Amino acid sequence: MEALCRCMLCPTHIAARFWVCEKCAKAYDLDKPFADWPAWAKQLKADHQAMRRSERQRFDSGELTFSDSPEAERLAYGEVNSDPFHNGER
Ligand SMILES: [Zn+2]
Repeated sequence: MEALCRCMLCPTHIAARFWVCEKCAKAYDLDKPFADWPAWAKQLKADHQAMRRSERQRFDSGELTFSDSPEAERLAYGEVNSDPFHNGER
């Protein structure tokens, strides 16, 4: 998997509902609500989100299988809806 379970700033594996790992959140001052993120981080997150979306489409089309990633399976079952960053955007 490329983006679904990865920190958007480094290769660290994280839960699918997070965008950055704990280390990057502290290092880049992103340890706060998405609405308070700096513009560059919001843009990066938007790019990362698009990557995740296309990966989910590959799952849906059968190109990738859930066995490749337990995290993606959890994502597909709606965990993304509980993403606090998503809620903050609306
Ligand atoms: Zn990171």
